[in-house]
Amino acid sequence: MNRILIAEDEPRLAAFLEKGLRSNGFVTTTVGDGAKAAMLADDEDFDLLVLDLGLPVKDGLSVLRELRAGGQRMPVIILSARDDVRDKVSGLEFGADDYVTKPFRFEELLARVRVRLRSEGIAEPTVLRSGDLTLDLRTRRASVGTSSIELSAREFTMLEVFMRHSDQVLSREQLLSHVWGYDYDPGSNVVDVYVGYLRKKLGRQRIETVRGMGYLMVAAPQ
Ligand code: CA
Repeated sequence: MNRILIAEDEPRLAAFLEKGLRSNGFVTTTVGDGAKAAMLADDEDFDLLVLDLGLPVKDGLSVLRELRAGGQRMPVIILSARDDVRDKVSGLEFGADDYVTKPFRFEELLARVRVRLRSEGIAEPTVLRSGDLTLDLRTRRASVGTSSIELSAREFTMLEVFMRHSDQVLSREQLLSHVWGYDYDPGSNVVDVYVGYLRKKLGRQRIETVRGMGYLMVAAPQ
């Protein structure tokens, strides 16, 4: 089980990150200021740090500089609303491994977290299977049996979320936050629209509607 330290002072975003990472099997600890982040990152055994730049007490870049100066090699992904190129460059110069600009989709961050952990030698499957349906995450190809299915980027992401949570009911809200991001309008019907697209391409029976709760991917449709 991988442990991730989240340094983020905005409560809503911190909660969103925590929930998303936990539902994907990570153990998380969250801190709201830079001094605590630096202290915990140094004292405890984390596999990765998600670091906001605009943090109280000590800003993210100082935290990063301090950690690297002290020989701390854990992967660091900077999360910031600053899309200024100079911030990005100094973050990477100070030893960050990656940089995600807010607003972002959760799946984008998750993919980057996985890449970083993978390069640290922690294995992740690259092909997901559900019955005769396969999704190759490396080549971004989907197929049913031997025939390949054309999917848009969004459809692919939604299908990946379903397959990572097969036999689990996913609410509209969960799908929205996984596929579209935390700042998406919760009243939108975009989830239903995309479930419709996937059913059209994969067969209606593959994704069940669970009344009042959400959707469920069925591994072996009858
Ligand atoms: Ca902040």
